[in-house]
Amino acid sequence: MENHAPDEHEACCGLPAAARTCPDCAKRGRTVGRETLDRQLAPDARAKFGDVAGFCANPDCAVVYFSGGAIVRKGETLRAVTQKDPGDEVNVCYCFDFKRGDIRRDLAARSVTDIPVRIKHEIDAGRCDCERMNPQGACCLGNVAAEVKRLAAERKTRA
Ligand SMILES: [Zn+2]
Repeated sequence: MENHAPDEHEACCGLPAAARTCPDCAKRGRTVGRETLDRQLAPDARAKFGDVAGFCANPDCAVVYFSGGAIVRKGETLRAVTQKDPGDEVNVCYCFDFKRGDIRRDLAARSVTDIPVRIKHEIDAGRCDCERMNPQGACCLGNVAAEVKRLAAERKTRA
């Protein structure tokens, strides 16, 4: 038996394997559904896909969504994508509108940030809508934690 337990859910939904490997960087993509694509793409880009597409999270790759031969790249989505765009004006949390610059400002002012806790609080209150709001179609907390860690380390290197 092949051992790919983390993909059991995807596999059971019958998604074609090709839809999950980015055609440009060959990294495995996350699968996003109609709710995500409807919200993140303008009609002309949306029309390239059916009900599912792959999402490439590789920061070094320009592809955002892919399925079969169809591709949507960085800059073609309605909102800048956390993983693809390093700008301070780019959202790290889409549901509650926290940007990379908000984390940077917290760290500059107090060396700590409560943004992850604030997001967690909103999630616990049932107010998140990641499947539609976040281009990756899933919760942002992992990305936010990674950004906090990265920006804190960046400050330390510069100090
Ligand atoms: Zn890629």
